[in-house]
Amino acid sequence: SLEIKDLTMAFGDIHVLRGVSLSIAPGTTTCIIGPSGSGKSTLLRGINRLHEPSSGDVLLDGESTLNLNPDVLRSRIGMVFQHFNLFPDHTSLENVALALRSVKGMSKAEARERASRRLAEVGLAERADHRPRDLSGGQQQRVAIARALAMEPEVMLFDEATSALDPELVKGVLTLMAGLCERGMTMAVVTHEMGFARRVADQVVFMDEGEVVEVGTPADLFDNPQSERLQRFLSEVL
Ligand code: ATP
Ligand code: MG
Repeated sequence: SLEIKDLTMAFGDIHVLRGVSLSIAPGTTTCIIGPSGSGKSTLLRGINRLHEPSSGDVLLDGESTLNLNPDVLRSRIGMVFQHFNLFPDHTSLENVALALRSVKGMSKAEARERASRRLAEVGLAERADHRPRDLSGGQQQRVAIARALAMEPEVMLFDEATSALDPELVKGVLTLMAGLCERGMTMAVVTHEMGFARRVADQVVFMDEGEVVEVGTPADLFDNPQSERLQRFLSEVL
């Protein structure tokens, strides 16, 4: 499970997260929605400490992660970004294998063997030797997902994983994500895909101005929004 306790984060004097608390049960998917600038990416970056929180805590399986080595933390909490963040000079296989070597300490043979299995699982066995620039956006994103999964994380974070994709490539990536959810991965998914959130989420979180404004089931938030802020947001995006 992932437990976020009163997390606050700031950039200089600007308070971007103002006390966010959230519980994500094992094997469930939480979709995080909210307007641009509401702090969704900052929250995910705080969870795996790409940016250091100012106060609060993140518990993984009941244990504080604040004292974990960031590399270890990020192998236990995988993250997928809007712009893939692949290493441009490495092949798909190398992109997946690199952290298995450096963080998990696997031998080259072991890492390559696990990486090729993961690539096959996301339908990219044939693309193992391609570099990112020779792949479509959807394929690049699937490499990034395979790279995170190869670490065998307990939790996966997705930050608008489909926002940079051409429309015809979005569905493949969403289907892959929904499959992970079905197989019991614990996930936090920042998304503008309201259809995906409604279909797949166990819990939906609406953030605005660095706060969690509403939490509930998809039916609660989409069919019966309580706050004026969520009503306004939904009227703009649906
Ligand atoms: P979007 O939907 O556009 O991705 P978001 O909900 O992910 O928005 P964040 O990226 O978390 O929003 O940003 C929240 C606030 O923090 C914004 O006001 C943003 O300008 C500010 N912010 C984010 N990153 C930085 C940074 N590196 N330095 C200063 N301010 C930042
Ligand atoms: Mg963002």
